Amino acid sequence: MFDGFSSPMPARIARLLILPALLALAIAVALVASGRIVLPPRYDPFAPFDLAEEPGFLTRFKFARATAAPALCRAALARGDIAFEPVPDRSTGEGCGFTAAGRIARLGTASLASPVILACPTALALAAFERHQLAPAAQTHLASRLARIEHLGTYACRNINHAATGRRSRHATAEAIDISGFVLADGRRLTLTGDWSSPDAGRAAFLRAARDGACRWFGVTLSPDYNPLHYDHFHLDTGGGRACR
Ligand SMILES: [Zn+2]
Repeated sequence: MFDGFSSPMPARIARLLILPALLALAIAVALVASGRIVLPPRYDPFAPFDLAEEPGFLTRFKFARATAAPALCRAALARGDIAFEPVPDRSTGEGCGFTAAGRIARLGTASLASPVILACPTALALAAFERHQLAPAAQTHLASRLARIEHLGTYACRNINHAATGRRSRHATAEAIDISGFVLADGRRLTLTGDWSSPDAGRAAFLRAARDGACRWFGVTLSPDYNPLHYDHFHLDTGGGRACR
């Protein structure tokens, strides 16, 4: 063996190519960023989040950017034709209140059983969830259009699990919604209480698909699988935590 000259040729070639490859990548990024190369929006990391776009490998990045700034978030809802009527900021000084929140009554095809106040990122997550998970799952598992989402509310100045002491719930900042059921265009109604363990395979499969799909858009998704407190609703929030239960 010739020690010192044992580096195999492919590894040496790979090392020689790293710098030109990085340079080419940097040039490509600069050309896209400056608008000299126009990519289809789906493949353009600088394109804004679009509710109508089929989720792809850049979706998580675009969604994170849209939810980080109120103006971008409101623009994403407006582009998706979702009415989000701004409401005045509220602060009670006890860890309760909201800023840049809005009233929302209707998503893409489904309405909310009653209008709710939500922080914009939570509203955008709900709109994406309805469009990309709930609506297709209703067609797949129940062969009907999703018409209405029933809920137990969003904003409430309270602690986690209604405890007398402890941390504030994300409901206290309008960053959470509790969903209790769904109504289909053909009139059928599903509830978490009645259908999570339904012998009707389609109903149970729809609710499982809804829970799993929520995890793609909300930081925290809690279902009846999590604990007995959630037997009758999905708790969905965008408050920064991570859970999919
Ligand atoms: Zn909740």
